Amino acid sequence: MIPSLFPGGILPKGDLPIIAGPCSIESQGQIYETMRRLKECGIGVVRAGAWKPRTRPGAFEGVGEIGLRWMREAADQLGLKVGTEVCLPEHARIALRYKCDFVWLGARTTGSPFVVEEIAKVLDGSDLTVLVKNPIAPDFQLWQGAVERLQRHHLIRIGLILRGFTTVAGGLLRNDPLWEAGDDFKSHNPELPILCDPSHISGDRRLLREIVEEALRRDYDGLFIESHYHPETALTDAAQQIIPEEISTLLHGESTHGDCALTAYREQVDKVDSDLIHLLSMRSELTTEIGAWKATHHLTPLQSARLESMIYHYRRQAELYGISPDMVEDLFRIIHDYSLTDQIKRLKNENHSDKD
Ligand code: PEP
Ligand code: MN
Repeated sequence: MIPSLFPGGILPKGDLPIIAGPCSIESQGQIYETMRRLKECGIGVVRAGAWKPRTRPGAFEGVGEIGLRWMREAADQLGLKVGTEVCLPEHARIALRYKCDFVWLGARTTGSPFVVEEIAKVLDGSDLTVLVKNPIAPDFQLWQGAVERLQRHHLIRIGLILRGFTTVAGGLLRNDPLWEAGDDFKSHNPELPILCDPSHISGDRRLLREIVEEALRRDYDGLFIESHYHPETALTDAAQQIIPEEISTLLHGESTHGDCALTAYREQVDKVDSDLIHLLSMRSELTTEIGAWKATHHLTPLQSARLESMIYHYRRQAELYGISPDMVEDLFRIIHDYSLTDQIKRLKNENHSDKD
């Protein structure tokens, strides 16, 4: 039996519970206006970051404590529940002081056992709801460990948030959801509600719909979505936030997002193609230098044995990557032909200039 995520059944199982709000609290006006519109759109529980752990120093790191005061005031006026990310024990103390209804551990914090332990100590004795995002690395034991540390400090209202993992493969999504592994984790923790955070998985609002649909197919208990009253000017995560009014379109509206997803895929392919052209130009510079070297050492441009051994290795590599060895062979024979023609042309030109 999945417990209600919040005291008083604010997010009961049944209807799809949604927590939404801006990535960061930026100003009193921004948080109030966003919360007011979220409320008009039927959202009862708001998320917003007062402290933002940024990858590189120098970026906007959140407004800090004052943000919680602004959010608390807006929550009291509008009758909304609110929560923020806590990255340090001090943040947890401040969140308790401003009577946050929930807090969450961000991906960078879940992966840091001593910090989780210290935060759990501060929260011990409160009945706060704590949501635990998956760590950045696909290490499910670390995720489990963070939950256990909270439980050992008597926290019982614990939920999970799948926000995707950094993986070497890269790809269209900002973070790989690793859906299957997530399902395993879910079934190992049947007593914990699990939300899906499509915003941090996709990194791109055009892809939200696809992620939400998959989360629903996989029976996630709710969604954790970034929403800002004016996403284009957001100080953090601008590309993935949506206006409050778009939340219901995302869930129930006619899907124009299929087209948007296609555009996003095409942009990605265009980028890969342009990288390929850049790599080809680097290759061409190298083969020109090789041509010059062969000429000074009186070697013929075509070295058949070298070509056949290259093709042999590239075919094997193609197999390892799961792409067609025939395609790779055809491609490299074309590339090689062009380099050879170029080397022969240059050699002829040099011979001409020798005679002049
Ligand atoms: C966030 O929710 O704004 C956030 C920083 O998320 P994550 O920890 O998933 O990167
Ligand atoms: Mn964010």
